Amino acid sequence: MRNISRRAFLQVATGTAAVGIAIPQLMDMKAFGASVADAPVTKVPTYCNGCSTGCPMFAYVKNGRLWKLEGHPVAMKNYGTLCARAYGVATDLYNKDRVRQPMKRGADGKFQPISWDQAFKEIAEKLTGIIDKHTGNSVAWMAHGGKDTYGGMFLDEIGSPNFITHYSTCFTSKTNAWDKMVSNQLTVDIRRSKYMLFAGRNYGGAIIPAAMKQLTAAKGLGRKIVVVDPRLCELAKIADEWVPIRPGTDLAFFLGLAHTLISENLYNKSFVQKYVFGFEEFWAANRDFSAEKAASICDIPAEKIREIARDMAKNAPAAFLDPGYHGLHNHYVSSTQIAQANVIVNALLGNFYQHGGLMPSARPTLGSIKFAKRLQPEKGPRADGAGVPNEYPTVEPGRGIAQHMPDLIAQGKIKAVFMYHFNPLRTAPDPEYQKNIAKAELVVTIPIDWNESSYYAAHYILPEHYFLERMEAPKPVSGNISHDYPQIAMRMPAVKALHDTKPLLEIMQGLTKAMKIDDLYPFTVDDEIAAAIAPLGIDKARIQTEGCIELPTPIQPGFPEKEGKPACGTFTGKIEFSIGAFKLHGRLGVPTWIPPLVSPKGEDEFRLIHGKQPWHSHSQTNNTPYLLEMTKSYNGTWMWMNRKRAEKLGISNGDTAIIESKIEYPGQAPRIVKKNMQIKVTDMLYPECVWVPSAHGCFSPNMTYGYGKGASYNDFAASRVEPLSGGCMVQEVIVKVRKGAL
Ligand code: SF4
Repeated sequence: MRNISRRAFLQVATGTAAVGIAIPQLMDMKAFGASVADAPVTKVPTYCNGCSTGCPMFAYVKNGRLWKLEGHPVAMKNYGTLCARAYGVATDLYNKDRVRQPMKRGADGKFQPISWDQAFKEIAEKLTGIIDKHTGNSVAWMAHGGKDTYGGMFLDEIGSPNFITHYSTCFTSKTNAWDKMVSNQLTVDIRRSKYMLFAGRNYGGAIIPAAMKQLTAAKGLGRKIVVVDPRLCELAKIADEWVPIRPGTDLAFFLGLAHTLISENLYNKSFVQKYVFGFEEFWAANRDFSAEKAASICDIPAEKIREIARDMAKNAPAAFLDPGYHGLHNHYVSSTQIAQANVIVNALLGNFYQHGGLMPSARPTLGSIKFAKRLQPEKGPRADGAGVPNEYPTVEPGRGIAQHMPDLIAQGKIKAVFMYHFNPLRTAPDPEYQKNIAKAELVVTIPIDWNESSYYAAHYILPEHYFLERMEAPKPVSGNISHDYPQIAMRMPAVKALHDTKPLLEIMQGLTKAMKIDDLYPFTVDDEIAAAIAPLGIDKARIQTEGCIELPTPIQPGFPEKEGKPACGTFTGKIEFSIGAFKLHGRLGVPTWIPPLVSPKGEDEFRLIHGKQPWHSHSQTNNTPYLLEMTKSYNGTWMWMNRKRAEKLGISNGDTAIIESKIEYPGQAPRIVKKNMQIKVTDMLYPECVWVPSAHGCFSPNMTYGYGKGASYNDFAASRVEPLSGGCMVQEVIVKVRKGAL
């Protein structure tokens, strides 16, 4: 494929221009464009699958083939726009590396096609045997998202509690702390805010289109945007100020902010008095943690910490510290305390449920199909120990701990694993360790493409329809940024299925029928749509045509109260600075300073940190040809290194270097991992760390575009568990770097 510019890429992907590039047969838009010049265009509502934002959009189709995309003008996530990833991901409909039919691994380790019926029969026999022998508790369902799915219903039916999400490799400490302290995941009200502080959050890299639109509009209005980050990230480029921080020390910075707000009497006392529980306990534990002390740890001058705290207080409650996402919320040993301190800084500003501060998502209440639930008693505690006394009692059982599945298999706790839209061999730490998932008695993946987990671990691959081929019931459009009115969106199939794939509902109906489980899913997606919209009074034809609909009742500011008392959903009804569940299990209830697990020492040592690129969604897009062309244009697989540190190592921009880390597990000899990476030499990075983009390092040979390109941070990290929230601590890693190649 020849190099193409981003502009040309977008034109090709949207079908607005024909560019003569050598693309695989199924993606030859030029030939297709010529052949259907006069064909009618149909407009189909759906929402993007390029990242978890799920931006509503329209797919335009000509002669049964995707023609162009357009962001939905109503949708609060994107206001009519889409990011580059959406266009790239849409073309993956035609990617030759999709799994095109069910596959079975033979005794020789190679995959052979198998019919759906035969696959269902064989999986059902093996699974029934496993359940009979070891109970349903020996079965795990791993998925990107939450349990409210057909997979969750399946586990309920067989009596297994082992639904495991990807959260412990992403942002698990945030949801854990916010649920326990606030009982809600509040969102930022960018449009009305006067002062916005972002730490470990990059809306310009991990894009939410509407957030970037709101932030650029806010900047035009003179509102203050400050970004604290070891790297001058995309969001920092539009900010008023970039404040570099020593990575791994955000907790010190947050505690320094809190100390300034309290010691200078800048905090909202009436709010704290009325709506906060545990203030004194927090202050008693952190009275000595001054801005100076914070500065000595996080390398942000004390005066700057005080200035930020004072400016926030001046603008409160129309000021916020963004609650954050992937950036800080499972990567450090202190990630849970970081999330706790984030809640505390915001509460001291009195910005909860306030315009310009933090507001709840405007979520509509959708209906669901009423049928008798056949929940079987669980046959034992969760295998991963999440929420289990004497294991990980404070980890959210609804999210689980994804990264230590190989241990659970080795211990005999898990015998059968389903992986639905989840690829732990690439997205969890230490791929060599994760490959041991293959040792389960039964591994079934339900993917779109030949991801690493399918290629190395699956015994059966049951390919799902691509999102542009699927119809899915309406869901709320909410989260991350505040919007006054609730919205819903749904997916209609834009094109007919290209290959011998199935939607998940049909896969589960086929499997459970083969297991002689009668009517676990006695409904169609049409039934689900009708049930979902019934309480909203929305006509089915309307939602199927408009796709995204805004509902008329706005959310109002104001702390939740019942009979004049705080009622935010926690035990006390207040924001709880001290988490009772932590104390119950012998830990401090309030956050205090915790030093990083590891720190770089030698001249060749660096903390390894990572982040998103605006044109990739972590590893999800690492085999998308058009997005990889952008990677090539921007040298997007290179590792960033601070210029002064690079000079000391004799490394120039574009040089290849050997990156080395030591992977250690208790009771085992250390394993040394070495990879080549090209180095981007920059002034835009804190000197003690190196930064890698999170998208690359594909190692499935059947992913032919991305295979062998770049490396992943997960290659260099051992699989560990942060005990309070279950995070995998992948930024607690030191690598050695030297010029040269393996
Ligand atoms: S942010 Fe981009 S990739 Fe993510 S859902 Fe929206 S358009 Fe798709």
